[in-house]
Amino acid sequence: MPSQWLSNPDLRHRLLNELVESTEPMWYLRVRLPAPRPAHSQPRNEALLRGYQELGKVAASEGRQVILATSGLTGWLATSLGAAGFGAGTTPATRTFAEPTVIPQQPESPWPRRPRYFEPALLHTVDFATHELLLRSKDYTPCGCTFCAELGAANPKPPPDQWNGELAGLHHLLQLGRLLARLHTTDPQSTARHQVEQARAFHASLPPFPTHHDNQPLHLKAWAQLLQ
Ligand SMILES: [Zn+2]
Repeated sequence: MPSQWLSNPDLRHRLLNELVESTEPMWYLRVRLPAPRPAHSQPRNEALLRGYQELGKVAASEGRQVILATSGLTGWLATSLGAAGFGAGTTPATRTFAEPTVIPQQPESPWPRRPRYFEPALLHTVDFATHELLLRSKDYTPCGCTFCAELGAANPKPPPDQWNGELAGLHHLLQLGRLLARLHTTDPQSTARHQVEQARAFHASLPPFPTHHDNQPLHLKAWAQLLQ
């Protein structure tokens, strides 16, 4: 469904009514988000985030299970707010369902593909150059997962076209699973808030990134406010 069903108060009201009135115990929702700006960013629109929050609240209070398919890290946020779970895979298309980002380019000179890596410490996906910068920062702990060991994520060798996107995707999925496992507490919302605040503190401790602006975890501030 289009994300307006969450962000628009009238549509959201209708959706939540439907949820309450229905006899279906489990709802499997696939929310189509606006094109992420910048690409690879998480939603930070306040009305949309409030929609996830209300959906989770109503689902939890009415004993309905809402599963947010193809939602990745945003689904993790929604799960901390009352959804029953989320779906994600190892590729960007399986982690985010969104309108396509239109990037103007000439067919003869396509934009170079930049390999990407999910940074658990930032709750954000960054490009290879930023990952290399983070590796040199003092408070950074490289991921010790089996996929990162094979990928050489802690000691990557340029050029980045040798970067194995499939292994990076497996690392991303594993990290989402770990984040989800951490929500199994009596208060998942404060657990998520703590996680987001940790990521903000780590980001604040870093020197300014001399890399592309889409490496900034722009969503963290809005997420921290939502989770208060
Ligand atoms: Zn890893």
